Amino acid sequence: MKWAVVSDFDGTLTLADVGDAILLEFGVFTAADIERSYAPGQSVEKWMRRGFSRLAASRPEIESFILRSMKPRAGLSAFSAFCAGRRIPFDIVSGGADIYARPLLKKWGVKAKTSFGRARRSGAGWDIEYADLDGGALPAFKAGRVKDYRDRGFRVLFCGDAPSDLRAAGLADKVYAAGRLKALCRAGGIKFSPLSDLRDAAAFIRKNP
Ligand SMILES: [Mg+2]
Repeated sequence: MKWAVVSDFDGTLTLADVGDAILLEFGVFTAADIERSYAPGQSVEKWMRRGFSRLAASRPEIESFILRSMKPRAGLSAFSAFCAGRRIPFDIVSGGADIYARPLLKKWGVKAKTSFGRARRSGAGWDIEYADLDGGALPAFKAGRVKDYRDRGFRVLFCGDAPSDLRAAGLADKVYAAGRLKALCRAGGIKFSPLSDLRDAAAFIRKNP
């Protein structure tokens, strides 16, 4: 059976949550706002749309900030090359926005299929459109992507870090969890390996062909 990789972006393929870092850096949200956005039942899309609608920073200002301050998860470029070399689908499903994800993926040389919110200048801020969600919610969208691969006969390795990743983690064959997702998986009885270096995920796939 073939493997497919489905992964969150912010805080999973990056060390910090990039969307949160931008909204903090440009004074839109406080650390307390961000903490609240991760409470059970909160919608990532709603918080992102609310925050970015108040973000005055221009595209060059945003890019300059993220390109100098955001770090990839260890092993990211090697993992992307591993997946490409074995023709393993590498599918990034994210409630984040293209405006920051694309420049980072390009800088880090990551090749993947991606679903991000699309940011467009609107009034004094940015409007984020989630066309891929098709009116649904992010956790169901991520879980649906895992299910699609499984229905097509793949085993799915899922990587995530947040409450919106929990449903997808529950459907995957192998889970690598970082951040808040670790405690949520423990509480939900979902087996996982802690995510620190993505080369561990490549090694797992090599050992379980
Ligand atoms: Mg995340």
